[in-house]
Amino acid sequence: MATRKRKVETEETVIACENCRYFKPLEGRNECRRNPPSVAVDFEDGGVTSMFPLVDAGEWCGCWAPKLNS
Ligand code: SF4
Repeated sequence: MATRKRKVETEETVIACENCRYFKPLEGRNECRRNPPSVAVDFEDGGVTSMFPLVDAGEWCGCWAPKLNS
């Protein structure tokens, strides 16, 4: 008996920050929300703040994970 082979369509996932669940696009910058913000010091005025790492949409790292369906 012949069996019909079904072609499995796979959607190519592009591993890039813009497709990562931790990617947070904001106006003028993109943040990575994988980890809590880090302390950042402004050495010009000595001010201290906290911020998430800034990433470019095309970058990626070893913690990349696909976006969740919600
Ligand atoms: S790929 Fe890495 S750096 Fe980029 S958003 Fe995801 S966790 Fe952050």
